[in-house]
This record gives sequence, C-alpha cells and structure tokens, in this order.
Amino acid sequence: MTKNRKKIYEGKAKILYEGPEPGTLIQYFKDDATAFNAQKKAVLEGKGVINNRISEHVMSRLAAIGVQNHFIKRLNLREQLIKEVEIIPLEVVCRNIAAGSIATRLGLEEGTPLPRSIIEFYYKEDKLNDPMVSEEHITAFNWAATQEIDDIMAMTLRVNDYLTGMFGAVGITLVDFKIEFGRVYEGEFSRVILADEISPDSCRLWDQATNEKMDKDRFRRDLGDVIENYAEVARRLGIMKEMPTVIQGGIS
Ligand code: UDP
Repeated sequence: MTKNRKKIYEGKAKILYEGPEPGTLIQYFKDDATAFNAQKKAVLEGKGVINNRISEHVMSRLAAIGVQNHFIKRLNLREQLIKEVEIIPLEVVCRNIAAGSIATRLGLEEGTPLPRSIIEFYYKEDKLNDPMVSEEHITAFNWAATQEIDDIMAMTLRVNDYLTGMFGAVGITLVDFKIEFGRVYEGEFSRVILADEISPDSCRLWDQATNEKMDKDRFRRDLGDVIENYAEVARRLGIMKEMPTVIQGGIS
C-alpha cells in the first residue's frame, strides 16, 4: 500500500509516508529495534505489528478522555493514518519508579518508588545523544514556548494517570514512559497534541506479580523473549486476536 507513496522521513523504528490528503501522514511500524543510540540493532519479527496495534489502542483511549493526539485510524497491520504535526524536538519522559538513566544518574536502586511522578525533558538530537535539558533551555532556544511547556506537562500527567490505571487493571506496573508532542496549526494559532507512539518500545512495563520486564529493556539488556512479552502486553489489554499468526508467520 505504501509502495507508491513518497517517503517523508525514516526513523529507527518507523517510517512516515505522505498521506492521502493534506495534513495527514501514514506512519509505518518497522520490526527494527535499536538501543543505545542505534549502537545495538536487531530485527524482531512482528514487533511493528504489535506496536501499531498497542499504540492504536492507547491513542484511541487517550482521545476518548480528551487527550488530543495525532492518531486517526489504523489502516492495516503495520500502518496507521495520522495527523501531520510540526514535531517539537523534545522527548518528554515521565517516571513513577526509578529505573534506567535516573537510577544511574541519582544513584537510586532500580525499583525505588519516586516521591511523586517526575517529568524530564530531553533534546531530540541523536548526534548529541539526546541530552537532558531544562525549561530554561527549551524557552531560550525556542524549542517550545512557556505556554506550550505548561500544556505538555499537563497532558503528560493526564497520560500518566490514565496509563497507570489502564495497565494497573491488567496487572502491569507503568514504571516510566517517553512521549513526543507536535503542533497543529489552525489559522494563525497552533495547538500542541500528542504524537509519535506509545508502546512497549517507549514505556517501562513490569509484571505486577513478578516484576518481570515486559518492555524494550528485554532487548536492551539481552533478557530474551522480547516479542513474547510485547505480545503478552497486547493480550492482557485484550487486543491480541490477530497476533499469534503474525508472530509465527512473520507477516511483512
Ligand atoms: N525512552 C525512549 N526513547 C529514548 C529514551 C528513552 O522511548 O530514546 C524511554 C524508555 O523506554 C523509558 C523512558 O523513556 O521507558 C526513560 O528512559 P531512560 O531515560 O531511563 O533511558 P534509558 O535507560 O532507556 O536509556
């Protein structure tokens, strides 16, 4: 379906193609997995299909509670129609429990609950390894305006509350996650909406009963069974119906 479409952008895990009408794009989910700024790479068969479906589910549920986002509809196993946005060059991380970089940076034992949910900003620039930045940097360099940062923080906390409940209800702890935002223009005004994806590639998800990791740390830390765990997340969310054939059959 995307064969004749113009490629707009290719990232590490997704490709953006021009959409069927102005203001839309097609987001294609690849099976490629990368970590540590693409120093570690692999192809995980079926990952794109699962992440497309999980991201569809999460974005639709968030839209239903009023968190505006770029998702329009899923087109097929690997593609979804999205609104074109002007991406804000920030990775917004929200954490509930210490893991990964905050554990290292602040000397916290992984698994320590944080005193409250903490939002961090990273400047999206692979050449610099996505450095952590503060609101001062963001406004000084004009990556986002103060009002936009306020909107981003408010939306991030709503996403965190909703996803904590959604995953908690199926026995999964939401440790942390990364989201991205973009601007849509309405005349001379712009609005910030949630963009990119929300999937086990961009969240830390731990089984509540065992603390087993069910997310990309399985790949980063060579824990094995990456796809099986992503599929288990989808299964618990009740969206697994089409998954087994995909994993066994390797649909492209
Ligand atoms: N994350 C992401 N993309 C990145 C960096 C981080 O999706 O480029 C996610 C990661 O999966 C985790 C959260 O953001 O859910 C916090 O990541 P952290 O800062 O601990 O970095 P990491 O330890 O993953 O390098």
